[in-house]
Amino acid sequence: MQTRQTPYYLYDTELLQRTLEVLNREVQKYTNYEVHYAIKANANPLLLRIINRAGLGIDCVSGGEIEAAIKAGFPSSKIVFAGVGKSDWEIRTALHNDIYCFNVESIPELEVINELAGRMNKRAGICFRINPDVGAHTHANITTGLAENKFGIALEDTLSVIRIAQSMEHIRLRGLHFHIGSQILEMDDFRDLALRINEIQDFLQGEGITLDDINVGGGLGVDYDNPNVHPIPNFRDYFATFHTHLRQRPGQRIHFELGRAIVAQCGSLITRVLYIKQGTDRQFAIVDAGMTELIRPALYGAHHKIESISASNQLQLNQELPFLATEELQTYDVVGPICESSDIFDHDVRLPRLQRGDLLAIRSAGAYGETMASQYNLRPLPKSYELGTLPEEQ
Ligand SMILES: *Cc1c(COP(=O)(O)O)cnc(C)c1O
Repeated sequence: MQTRQTPYYLYDTELLQRTLEVLNREVQKYTNYEVHYAIKANANPLLLRIINRAGLGIDCVSGGEIEAAIKAGFPSSKIVFAGVGKSDWEIRTALHNDIYCFNVESIPELEVINELAGRMNKRAGICFRINPDVGAHTHANITTGLAENKFGIALEDTLSVIRIAQSMEHIRLRGLHFHIGSQILEMDDFRDLALRINEIQDFLQGEGITLDDINVGGGLGVDYDNPNVHPIPNFRDYFATFHTHLRQRPGQRIHFELGRAIVAQCGSLITRVLYIKQGTDRQFAIVDAGMTELIRPALYGAHHKIESISASNQLQLNQELPFLATEELQTYDVVGPICESSDIFDHDVRLPRLQRGDLLAIRSAGAYGETMASQYNLRPLPKSYELGTLPEEQ
């Protein structure tokens, strides 16, 4: 049997396809609603191919992501480009590829885009990223829509920046962009955003300004505690919330930028137990994956469900393992090998008795896992495989 070097990412592409089917079914209920996949969540070519086939556009935050999207076959007319600090080569890459829209975060940035577009004899489509001052009920490090964030243009400057854009020869104003944060599970936060956008549009209408595009960003969350119960996020309520509360002008296109909700549940990080170490009051399971492969627990205090997969002959994700109920459970702190005390996956994890060589699956790791991997401690980057292509070796 072929052996796989742990740690590695394992992707359930069948679940990804089902997720995209549900997403498309829900979004197609509405007119001129368009989803751009936020490629920063996961840029694995295996997943990009499937997402492209499902017809989604792409939301990029760097020149490298634009290049990866083009390489994966996404049409440039469906690419939007956000980011608070776009460098000149990134702007040129975007202009060269004739992307749909820059999401612009400041006037100095707008001036550079106008100048570089002028030199290329082009007109750049832009949306302004407006800071709606709407708080999302999520972790402080991933809340982006409050007034004190570095992101976006202050709400009260909306009209003046629009006037500036309208006066620029190489800029085509398409609309406004918003993004209030990530891992948002309260639909009220999206409702509040929709209501704020209505106020802005009413005000702009009074000034004689109508917009072709409104981009509401991303941020829909997933169930990290129960990935088997909720493998597919609640796309129905998400789009229905915008449909109910956001007043779409005639012909106007509403754009969504979902990352996590599309890919989080289809990925697991597979790691092997190296040692069981008895501390004074705790028991440590030291595994061969660490914050270099999955940094979310160290960076955000995020929790991922951890399952032992050694007792089954073949990995069966998305299915409760029956042996867990009968076997006596132990309590472990599951920790990585990196020389940082924050390199802990979780405390007090209840698992069947582990021994050296056992395999663990760290679930819901498809978003902000592989893309955030680093080579700290000169570790190799993790490989990735498709679930079901090879039996997991024990
Ligand atoms: C990160 C990001 C997204 C995607 O966020 P998710 O929480 O993964 O849906 C969308 N838009 C912008 C501007 C972002 O920075």
